[in-house]
Amino acid sequence: MGLIIRSSAIHAAGCYTTTRIPKGKRVVEYTGPRLTKDEADILYEDSPLTYLFGLGDGSVVIDGHCMAMFINHSCDANCETGEEDGRVWVTAIKNIAPGSEITYDYCLYDGGDDAAVCNCGSKNCRGTMYSKEEVRRRKAAAKKAPGKTPRGKRAKRKTGASDGG
Ligand SMILES: [Zn+2]
Repeated sequence: MGLIIRSSAIHAAGCYTTTRIPKGKRVVEYTGPRLTKDEADILYEDSPLTYLFGLGDGSVVIDGHCMAMFINHSCDANCETGEEDGRVWVTAIKNIAPGSEITYDYCLYDGGDDAAVCNCGSKNCRGTMYSKEEVRRRKAAAKKAPGKTPRGKRAKRKTGASDGG
């Protein structure tokens, strides 16, 4: 399998395949040092851009140092991520043609006041990279405290997509 990094219409750099990938095939592993959430919060306190991937209940994150960290979010993704024995794999959920950009749904959470705007351009784009559950949670929180911006930690997001490209 050939994966390359090049500029992307979705955001900055993206990960592309040079070969056909059949549905169900593992594309790449999301690798990198494991940090606790607290360690990551301290390390990236002042960083607008992080490549963190939450494991399990989110108490441990992978600090991405791999091809997979360049994979962009899409609301109509051709891959999904799955955890197996503490390792995270990006797996194709569609047959992917050569030259296609590899994408998965980030399902972000814990983003503080970051809007995490989505620019994927797909028909079913939900306008944000947050998970559906997180969107619901945020709406409920906003109702509880009208006029107040929820304070939180910096976004745990893998790319910064709100810079207008
Ligand atoms: Zn989208």
